[in-house]
Amino acid sequence: MLPEKRVFDDRRPLLSVVVPCYNESEVLPHTHARLTRVLASLVGFECELIYVDDGSTDGTWDLISSLTRTSATVRALKLSRNFGHQRACLAGLREATGDAVAIIDADLQDPPELIGEMAALWSDGWSVVSARRRARSGETLFKKASAYAFYRLLNALSDQPHALDTGDFRLVDRTVVELLTAIPEKDLYLRGIVSWFGLPETSVAYDRSPRHSGESKYTLRKMLSLARHGLLGDSAALLRLPVYLGSAALAYGVTATVARRDLRKFAGPGAFGAQALALGVMGEYVHAVHRQLQGRPAYVVEERITSVSHPVAVKERVGL
Ligand code: UDP
Ligand code: MG
Repeated sequence: MLPEKRVFDDRRPLLSVVVPCYNESEVLPHTHARLTRVLASLVGFECELIYVDDGSTDGTWDLISSLTRTSATVRALKLSRNFGHQRACLAGLREATGDAVAIIDADLQDPPELIGEMAALWSDGWSVVSARRRARSGETLFKKASAYAFYRLLNALSDQPHALDTGDFRLVDRTVVELLTAIPEKDLYLRGIVSWFGLPETSVAYDRSPRHSGESKYTLRKMLSLARHGLLGDSAALLRLPVYLGSAALAYGVTATVARRDLRKFAGPGAFGAQALALGVMGEYVHAVHRQLQGRPAYVVEERITSVSHPVAVKERVGL
C-alpha cells in the first residue's frame, strides 16, 4: 500500500544530513562542496548539515569547525575519541533536528546527488528510504563477497527481513529518529533496527563509486564487530545452535540405543546431545535477558488517529 503524501502548509520541511567522519580531511572539502550544491538545489526544503568527527587525528576537526564559521547551516560534533561509525551516526541523529534525516558517508562513495530522490520519496510518505548498492566499484573482492554473503546470512537468520545490500546511506523520517534515539542499546546495528521497526520502507538503487581519496576506515576488526552486533542484535540463531545440534545428537543416541539394544550406544552422541540441549536452554534464558536489556520498545505504533470527541484523545491532549 502506498503511504500518504506529507503536507507542510505553513513552512518548508527541514532536512538534516548527518556525515560521520574519521580522518577524512583529504576528501571533506570535496564532500562539502558537493553536498552544499545538492542541498541548495532542494528548493522545497530547509537544510542543515551535521558533521560528526569520530575522534580524527588528521585535522578533520579543524576543517569541520572552519565550515561552521562560513556556513550557517553547518553544525559540528566532535566525539572525544574514535567510537566507531555506528555510534558516530547515532550521535549525529541525536543532534539532528530535521523532519527528515539522511545519513551519508564522508568519502563520496555514496553520491550526495541521490539525496534529492530520497527526499522526494520521503515527501511521498515513506518513513525509510534506503539506498541499495547495485554495483560496488573500487572495493576489494573480499569486501564485496563478504558483504554479499553477510547480508544474505543475516536475512536468513533474522526474525525480521532486512533491506538487502544497503549500508547506512539512507533517509529516515523524524519518527524513526525518535525511536532510534530512545533505545538504550549501546551497540546498535542501525540498518537492522530501522528494518526491525517495520515502518513503510522503500529504496533507490545506485552504483557505489570508489572512495574519493584516502583508505577505508572500516578495518577488518571493525567489520567483524559490526557483523557481530548485527547478528547478536537481530537474531537468536547462534544462541539456538546447541538446541538444534543437541536435539539431533540426542535423537541419534536414543535411536542407536533402541535399535541395537545396547545402552553403551547412548554414551557418545546421546551424552553430547543432552549437554548441548542443556546449554541451549541456558541460551534461551540468556536471550530473554539480552532482549530485556536491549530495551527496544515492545512495539512501534506507525500512526495514531484520535478524534477530539473521544475521551482518550481528550486525556492525551490535556496530558493526563
Ligand atoms: N567512519 C567513522 N568512524 C570509524 C570508521 C569510519 O566515522 O571508526 C566513517 C568514515 O569516515 C566514513 C564512513 O564512516 O564517512 C564509512 O567508512 P569507510 O568509508 O571507511 O568504510 P567503507 O566504505 O570502506 O566500508
Ligand atoms: Mg567508504
